[in-house]
Amino acid sequence: MLRSGRPLLSRGVSQLRASGDQRPVLRFDGEAFRLKRTGELVRALLVLRLCAWPPLVTHGLTLLSWSRRLLGSRLSGALLRASVYGQFVAGETTAEVQDSVQRLQGLGLRPLLAVPIEEEPGTDRGGEAWYEGNLKAMLHCVDLSCGPPGSLPPQPVLMQLKVTALTSALLCKELTLRLGEPQSAKELSPERLAAAMDSGEDLGISSLSSEQNQHLGASLSRFHRIAQYARSRGVRLLVDAEYTSLNPALSLFVSSLAQCWNSREEAGRDGTPWVWNTYQAYLQDTHERLTRAAEEAERKGLGFGVKLVRGAYLESERALARERGTADPTQPDYEATSRSYSRCLELMLGHVCRRGSQCQLMVASHNEESVHQAVKRMSELGIPLDGPVCFGQLLGMCDHVSLALGQAGYAIYKSIPYGALDEVIPYLLRRAQENRSVLQGARREQGLLSQELLRRLSRSP
Ligand SMILES: Cc1cc2nc3c(=O)[nH]c(=O)nc-3n(C[C@H](O)[C@H](O)[C@H](O)COP(=O)(O)OP(=O)(O)OC[C@H]3O[C@@H](n4cnc5c(N)ncnc54)[C@H](O)[C@@H]3O)c2cc1C
Repeated sequence: MLRSGRPLLSRGVSQLRASGDQRPVLRFDGEAFRLKRTGELVRALLVLRLCAWPPLVTHGLTLLSWSRRLLGSRLSGALLRASVYGQFVAGETTAEVQDSVQRLQGLGLRPLLAVPIEEEPGTDRGGEAWYEGNLKAMLHCVDLSCGPPGSLPPQPVLMQLKVTALTSALLCKELTLRLGEPQSAKELSPERLAAAMDSGEDLGISSLSSEQNQHLGASLSRFHRIAQYARSRGVRLLVDAEYTSLNPALSLFVSSLAQCWNSREEAGRDGTPWVWNTYQAYLQDTHERLTRAAEEAERKGLGFGVKLVRGAYLESERALARERGTADPTQPDYEATSRSYSRCLELMLGHVCRRGSQCQLMVASHNEESVHQAVKRMSELGIPLDGPVCFGQLLGMCDHVSLALGQAGYAIYKSIPYGALDEVIPYLLRRAQENRSVLQGARREQGLLSQELLRRLSRSP
């Protein structure tokens, strides 16, 4: 039985030492799967195979409603729980989520909980009540992230935050447009928004209607409440990046929160930031924006936290650009995105190296080359294994990489959605559609899973 903390694995992580370095050399060869139960391996193999089948991802909701009609909702629900839901979701109740989290911690992995709610860019769910309900769910997520009362969570505790669950995507779109106008941009400075967050004062932005100003005020108050509560419980908030039509507004909110919560007074002695932003390497201007944001944070004496991803909305971004006849904001091909990721990674590691814990980075990628690059450069730059750089992967994906990282002593977080079956399945299907290429590319993981299962079979009497 594994105890919580880091279990010892004899061969999953090669204990070979790199010459002149005391760090373990990482090999993502599936040895780490020895830590998993056979049932978990079988489920992972079946589910990953299933998810690589394009019709399932494209027509998931239709197939789901057919299966409900054919099998009844109880049986089809049970099948989902034993497969896709069980693989990618932590559970529904507090006890189920805490149980999943403890199991992960026993394997050397850390939870990065995410409330699966979001709003489409062109829609408005309407009414402050919906956003207030989401805020309540997020405050509960802060509590869940801390673990059961009295437990000592591994530090630091991180949680994902989707801005469009707390404010309307339509307002974000409007703000993004206004930020492009010099006069409005002045009114929308992070300093002004930060002051309003704290005081609740009406900003009265001249280019917004009175309803929009009211909604902005209520949204800022929600951001303030979640950040204040997370800070009081020692939980760091990682704000997700979304579509380019919203991202400038999201970054404005993050900068305003950073003004309050990443300052020297709030961040404490080591200066670790409480609110982080996400940068998507598939956008052409990301390296430039990241350079500017990192320099600005340093100039203002603020902590700077970044979740670095390749980006999830490729197809939608391109379709929108085609529809509007505007320039495609994304990199021309996969190789260009990977080069961009690598440059952004290098940039951030340089900042981490200079600023120490005031600059934090999550390498949020399933890509083995990106992980190897990060690990290699951390070693060359003398960045500690479990310090200002951590890794992030989705629950149920790329476990051969996550487990090997965790076993070697790196800080590795699994992004974990949770919630009721009916609420989470549409969310999962959306994520699966966005990550279609990743799911189809999980062949190597499937091969390693089969290899481990065959090894177990051949050993049985
Ligand atoms: C912990 C965590 C948090 C995340 N948070 C966010 C978030 O806040 N916002 C967000 O947008 N995404 C987020 N993602 C998803 C992420 O952006 C990627 O979609 C996903 O991780 C796949 O990229 P990869 O590096 O893991 O894998 P890879 O397989 O190496 O890369 C796949 C990615 O490459 C890019 N790509 C693929 N084909 C092309 C092409 N033809 N041209 C240009 N680029 C291409 C796309 O970005 C695609 O997603 C998160 C992922 C993780 C693990």
